[in-house]
Amino acid sequence: MTGARILGGADLISGGLVGPDRLNEIRQVAAEFAVAVTEDMAELIDVDNDRDPIAAQFLPSRAELTEAEEELADPIGDERWSPVPGIVHRHPDRVLLKPILLCPVYCRFCFRREVVGKKAAMLDRAALESAFGYVRQRPQIWEVIVTGGDPFLLAPRRISEIIRALDQIPHLGVIRFHTRVPVADPRRVTPTLVEALAAEKAVYVVIHANHPRELTAKAREAALKLSRAGIPLLSQTVLLRGVNDDAVVLEALFRGLVAMRVKPYYLHHADLARGTSHFRTGIVTGQRLVRALRGRVSGLCQPTYVLDIPGGYGKVPIAPCAVTPDYPSGEWLVEDGAGGRHRYPADPCIAED
Ligand code: SF4
Repeated sequence: MTGARILGGADLISGGLVGPDRLNEIRQVAAEFAVAVTEDMAELIDVDNDRDPIAAQFLPSRAELTEAEEELADPIGDERWSPVPGIVHRHPDRVLLKPILLCPVYCRFCFRREVVGKKAAMLDRAALESAFGYVRQRPQIWEVIVTGGDPFLLAPRRISEIIRALDQIPHLGVIRFHTRVPVADPRRVTPTLVEALAAEKAVYVVIHANHPRELTAKAREAALKLSRAGIPLLSQTVLLRGVNDDAVVLEALFRGLVAMRVKPYYLHHADLARGTSHFRTGIVTGQRLVRALRGRVSGLCQPTYVLDIPGGYGKVPIAPCAVTPDYPSGEWLVEDGAGGRHRYPADPCIAED
């Protein structure tokens, strides 16, 4: 079973998604960065709306040809932390494993846009074996995050081989997959794929979704197949100007995900990838949105707002802090969901050894 038909550069014009007057623009962008959108996502695009949030995520635009001074080819420093091909080892207890650098869609804001959809898209068997060997030899590694690209583009047989190899490493506790397939190409979530994910160890699936309109009936069905197999589902969302930088949109997205049994995990501040400045909000905007969400939805619907520190220093939470010290009283001032402020007693004096 294959996924939806993929539309590349010229198909966007023949499919009526982009006007023929933009052919040159599409060619220029496609010469720099991969372009593809699945039929499932193309069907969601409102071609009469030039600010359509789905179109903004997948259709190339001239703005991508503008490079901001602060932008980086490798915004989160994957290369710096890659000891062997396909592995990124940034934190002691976990590694990324990138067996494939292809995706069903190419997001115009992608943080790995310099490498996805380009040459050397798959790890060959020898490289994959050496990546497994790297994990086997390091007992401190507890979690493997299988990412890419999109690992759910691999044939279920290949996914099963990866799972079996990782399942046999005694010190591993968790195998986590990061994917956009259940939303962007949901027909790939077949019973065979779900069976391939069966393991003794805990297997988590983290689904990338940015707008409530992506949560179609087919996407809900795909998520249900995974959750019925006992696989815990989480989500990650990128905060994007013109797509979801609105508390009402984020609320609908996170409520929709939770109703699909998907726990919102991360809200990413957009990375400094080349040609993506038109997507980035300020951190103050992100914090305002997070504060607004706190007043509107339960904790189940609130992901952690994070920034991947440029250069490869890892993710840190950047949500506004609800508690500030009050001087000279030593008490705390705590902000509630509606913006009201309340006093909390000073910390007890505890003698230190
Ligand atoms: S699915 Fe992920 S890796 Fe692929 S293009 Fe989108 S952001 Fe990049």
